[in-house]
Amino acid sequence: MERIRDHLKTVLQATLIPVINASGVIIHTNLGRAPLSKAALAAVKGIGGGYSTLEFNLDTGTRGSRLLHAQSQFKQLLGVEAALVVNNNASAVLLALTALTQGRKVIISRSQLVEIGGGFRIPEVLRHSGTELVEVGTTNKVHLFDYENAFSSETAAVMRAHTSNYSIVGFTSEPDLKDIVASAQQAGLWFFDDLGSGALLDTALYGLKHEPMVQESLAAGADLVCFSGDKLLGGPQAGIILGKGELIERLKVHPLARAIRADKMALAALTATMDHYLKEEALRCVPVWRMISSEIDQIRERAESWHKAIKRGEVLESRSMVGGGSLPGETLPTWVLSLEVEHPNQMLDLLRQGSPPVIGRVENDRVLFDPRTVDPDFDADFINTLEQTWRIYEN
Ligand SMILES: *Cc1c(COP(=O)(O)O)cnc(C)c1O
Repeated sequence: MERIRDHLKTVLQATLIPVINASGVIIHTNLGRAPLSKAALAAVKGIGGGYSTLEFNLDTGTRGSRLLHAQSQFKQLLGVEAALVVNNNASAVLLALTALTQGRKVIISRSQLVEIGGGFRIPEVLRHSGTELVEVGTTNKVHLFDYENAFSSETAAVMRAHTSNYSIVGFTSEPDLKDIVASAQQAGLWFFDDLGSGALLDTALYGLKHEPMVQESLAAGADLVCFSGDKLLGGPQAGIILGKGELIERLKVHPLARAIRADKMALAALTATMDHYLKEEALRCVPVWRMISSEIDQIRERAESWHKAIKRGEVLESRSMVGGGSLPGETLPTWVLSLEVEHPNQMLDLLRQGSPPVIGRVENDRVLFDPRTVDPDFDADFINTLEQTWRIYEN
């Protein structure tokens, strides 16, 4: 019986399980990026658990298009001509370049040749799409004339890739987005902006640096803008492409679009997430934004209540991070529960074996737990794992 039990345990061991993220990194790519809102979860349940109008027109009783879903919300919210949702932002970039610039040249600044992680490198994506990359400027400085000198009859577009996970500081400059867009369009080229995270709300209102916003790229006149669904938007994994109707039409009919289409659960969650923005309740309802805009006093109270519950450690000031390919190096003030133990990394290892696992972080030889990234609904589970782990650690 024992051997059967052990065997079943390994056979049925799930690899994808929930964890408590007490690391203080809000958009943690390894931990699934943005947690979904309650409404987005309800939408996933409603659509995923049964049949739906995914590709069905109720008025005519005939085939409809999955490309409709979420499109109308982006149009209403941002005034764009068209929107297309695909599997993720990496595939959005690949589709846009493959469908629109293959066999021609795309101009990009040397300061933006970014690697996102997981092998997604802008220069390589350009190559894979059959587009010829034209690098302009230098690592730290690029001028409008650098772009303009590179315009040729073989150029299809000018592209910007947001440098989402690094920043170049010091003697640096680049032209205003508006000026690059205007100059490109005057030369008959179109402008493509890979925003990466793509915020719809202003991070600068919460003590962070300003993350480029989707509205700003559109206002600058970008013909196509793309960004992730599960970074600062706070929704499911998705790639969102917005902009000129004529360009988006060409993307929709490209064979690659079928290969990277969004699934029904992502579309359900995305639609529900976009509703929060339309109803102007995103700060309150979208978890990523709730965490970013958390009141510092409330975070401190939570840390103190954890401290009271486990009767160990102390409450200290620390910093949370936004993470997830946005705002590199930027932090938010926070309060953490801190445990001083002899072997902090061993403690972290044990916490990861807990049920549910807790992900903390070590700083200055202390184990820190940040309430900012823990939904209060999970406080009891968090305390439970912490107490169990402490017992194991002490033995
Ligand atoms: C994150 C990011 C991507 C990739 O987006 P995914 O949704 O992870 O596929 C592409 N470009 C930039 C600039 C990014 O920051």
